[in-house]
Amino acid sequence: MLWLAVLVTPQPDSKKVTLTMDDSLLSDVPHSNPDDIPLKRCSKCDEEKSATTEFFHRQNKSKDGLRPYCKTCVLAHEKTRYAENRDHILERKRAYQRIYDAAHRDRKRAYDAAHSDRQKGHYASRRDQAKMYRAAHRERRLAQSKAHYVANRDRYLERDRSRRRLPEVQERKRAQKREYRSRPEGKSSEKEYRSRPEVQMHRAANRQTRRARLRAIGGTFTKQDVQNLLKGQKEKCALCKKKLVKYHIDHIVPLSRGGSNWPYNLQLLCPSCNLSKQNKLPHEFDGSGQMRLLS
Ligand SMILES: [Zn+2]
Ligand SMILES: [Zn+2]
Repeated sequence: MLWLAVLVTPQPDSKKVTLTMDDSLLSDVPHSNPDDIPLKRCSKCDEEKSATTEFFHRQNKSKDGLRPYCKTCVLAHEKTRYAENRDHILERKRAYQRIYDAAHRDRKRAYDAAHSDRQKGHYASRRDQAKMYRAAHRERRLAQSKAHYVANRDRYLERDRSRRRLPEVQERKRAQKREYRSRPEGKSSEKEYRSRPEVQMHRAANRQTRRARLRAIGGTFTKQDVQNLLKGQKEKCALCKKKLVKYHIDHIVPLSRGGSNWPYNLQLLCPSCNLSKQNKLPHEFDGSGQMRLLS
């Protein structure tokens, strides 16, 4: 409920009287003339309304303390005036703003500088706080994320797999590889990568495994097995005993003769021995050595 303090026009025989009335009374009978509220005629719309600040703005110098136009008319007048002079009013505002800014430029700069320092300090401290919080709760955070990963491991792995399987992802990867290999540093890095002993062993192991699988012969070996062979043969060819620079992985009993692909059937040969041995069995081979000597 809105209560209004209404100032009534001073009467000759009375001082200012303050009345209170609620808005329902006003809206129900705005223009009636209750005993104690005089009427005032708006000099614009010519309507009679209660001579109160509900309907008229104050104007101290006038006889009754109110403006001649009613509030509705004043508002309409101001709206029309604004609409007619909009550009002019705005331009005047902007011009004033420019004058004000120019006059207070130094003061504003000083204020901004001081203020921005304070703000920077504020943000820095917030950053530091966050950093400190993370550091303080590092263990907990790591444990949480690890637990989450463990609990959802299959989901994560499946998500990664299905992402990698997406045709656009695969095509993008292939394109990236092609692009990298076409560059000089890509070419040399590829060469360098392939020349690494562990990579060569790995590739050789995979090649042989693939061959063995093709022949439906059992047995697999790893690059660790090849490494063990190399060490066992003291890095010498199993047949000619020359120092191995390049080596071939040879099946002692050839795959084509029923040999397996398990590490115990493997030896390392220099390229020339490997080529001359071909698919002969150990006793058929007329080389300098018969079989790989087990150390
Ligand atoms: Zn009016
Ligand atoms: Zn040899």
